[in-house]
Amino acid sequence: MDIEQAKDMKFIFVCPSQNQPFESADFKIDENRGVTTDEAGHKTLDATVVLTEPCPFCGRKHVYHASELSCPFGGQE
Ligand SMILES: [Zn+2]
Repeated sequence: MDIEQAKDMKFIFVCPSQNQPFESADFKIDENRGVTTDEAGHKTLDATVVLTEPCPFCGRKHVYHASELSCPFGGQE
């Protein structure tokens, strides 16, 4: 993956107060503790993802755990 692609990468977030999904590339990864493997052998990234732009639904800057997101970090097959 080159830098341009990484910059344009969007994740799907869900607003926890409106329960509405939205796509955003405005986020940063915080508290990255690396990839962990659970008892079933599923890998997840143990990190916190913080919005850098307000949520389009409620205007707050939500914080998510990487495992909550529909993204390459989720360890989906
Ligand atoms: Zn919201």
